[in-house]
Amino acid sequence: MILAKISKGNIPEFLKRLMASYEVVAPVEKEGKFAFSPVSDPAKVRLDYDTTILPPKQFLYPPEEKLMEFKRDGSAGKETIDTTKRVLFGLHPCDIWGIQILDWVFDGKFPDPYYRARKDNTLIVGLNCTSPRNEYCFCQSMGTYTVDKGYDIMLMEEGDNYMVHIKTDAGNQVIRKSSDLFTEVSAEDTNILSKDLVDKKMKAKFKRKLDTRNISELLDFTYGSPVWKEFGDRCLSCGACSYVCPDCYCFNVKDKLDLSLQNGERARTWDCCLYIDFARCAGGHNFRKDKATRLKMRFFHKEKSFVDDYGRPACVGCGRCIKACPAKIDLTEIFAKLRGV
Ligand code: SF4
Ligand code: SF4
Repeated sequence: MILAKISKGNIPEFLKRLMASYEVVAPVEKEGKFAFSPVSDPAKVRLDYDTTILPPKQFLYPPEEKLMEFKRDGSAGKETIDTTKRVLFGLHPCDIWGIQILDWVFDGKFPDPYYRARKDNTLIVGLNCTSPRNEYCFCQSMGTYTVDKGYDIMLMEEGDNYMVHIKTDAGNQVIRKSSDLFTEVSAEDTNILSKDLVDKKMKAKFKRKLDTRNISELLDFTYGSPVWKEFGDRCLSCGACSYVCPDCYCFNVKDKLDLSLQNGERARTWDCCLYIDFARCAGGHNFRKDKATRLKMRFFHKEKSFVDDYGRPACVGCGRCIKACPAKIDLTEIFAKLRGV
């Protein structure tokens, strides 16, 4: 582990230097909300953001992407792989966890070259949390309020400075190139970073909680619970919860031809298990035509199948889905009711 320190005043200059070699994506304010956006003016980057509307997954797995071009005569298609050199700057630990979970999926049984190419060309600069960022966070329940891998550099706020934990060679290289902006740290500085201290401070502050004990088994036992209908009836099937989730990854693939009907392209777009036609198959039969079944499916996938397959839920407790839901559906409330709390 290598540690350094940078004053907050030097961050815009650091960003400017990164921008010479990378597309830098960082949180900026847009109409009173925050969004990860390619940076054109480092002074507009807001490291004091609470959360962003969409998670940073959109820069590794975009909402819509062209996978390949093809010709109707059957000649070989051309793959379109994005190899833009990019820095994702200022990610909170939950979003870094979110990307690690996507890695498991996209590097899994069917490795995805589109995701992998973007990830290989991405440098991740994290920003730690010392308290819940807003009323919706429950990352403490999900064990994602700190992170010890999945990033190249971590910034840890300390008064007028950021302590800098350099995790990888790639991170070390970019810091070395701007070494005049960084200073060495003292033994006293390193004490401040004690994980136990951060843990103690953080745990005391969370109001929103999700009890994850035996969560996979809980879902087995509550398969027929009226709670699913109660919340399903309120759902508008709008898909907002999936779109803002760092760990929803279902997609659709569509081919389309141009007007000559000779050339086409294949595109992948985000999909959502709450949409009415998500489980409609050839012949028109819909396996999940009522809203309660679709809502149940979302949580069975995230908190049961994913736990059974990967050992943890596909949720990092960022709270974005709770904030975004127009029907005020809150998964922490659903799980409390399933437990009868
Ligand atoms: S399910 Fe909700 S709280 Fe959990 S990671 Fe997705 S958006 Fe965040
Ligand atoms: S955001 Fe709310 S209303 Fe929309 S699909 Fe999700 S649970 Fe249903």
